[in-house]
Amino acid sequence: MNILFIEDDAIESMKLNRTISKWPVKHKIIQAKNGEEALDILNGPEKLPDIILLDLNMPRMNGIEFLRILKDDAELRYLPTVILTTSQNRADLLECYRIGIAGYIIKPLKYEDYEDKIQKLIAYWEVNELIKGS
Ligand SMILES: [Mg+2]
Repeated sequence: MNILFIEDDAIESMKLNRTISKWPVKHKIIQAKNGEEALDILNGPEKLPDIILLDLNMPRMNGIEFLRILKDDAELRYLPTVILTTSQNRADLLECYRIGIAGYIIKPLKYEDYEDKIQKLIAYWEVNELIKGS
C-alpha cells in the first residue's frame, strides 16, 4: 500500500516508520508535515495513496481543516482516512465522524501498545479492496 502519513512531529514519524518496517509486507510511507503539504502531494503528479493516516494537531492547516477540504473534493473524498491522534476530545471524534473518516485511533503512550494498534490497522487495510490510485 501507499500510505500518506500527515504528521508534524518527527518522533511520531520515526515511530510509524519503525513499526511499518518490521511488518512482513512492504508498504510505502509518503510523509506530509501538515494539511497544506498533504494537499500539495495529493494534487501533484504522483499517484494517489491507498490510505491516509491523519494527525489532528498540526500547525498551518490542522487535521480537521484538511479533512473538510478532502471530503469536499470530488475525487479525493474516496480516499480512506484514519485519524491517528493523542486527542481524547469527544468533540473532535464526533466532528471527524460527521465529516467522514474510516477510523479514529488514539495513540497509546507505550510503544508496544502503539505498535500493536498500528499492526492491526495495517493488517485490516491489507485485506480490504482498495481504490487504486490514478
Ligand atoms: Mg501533531
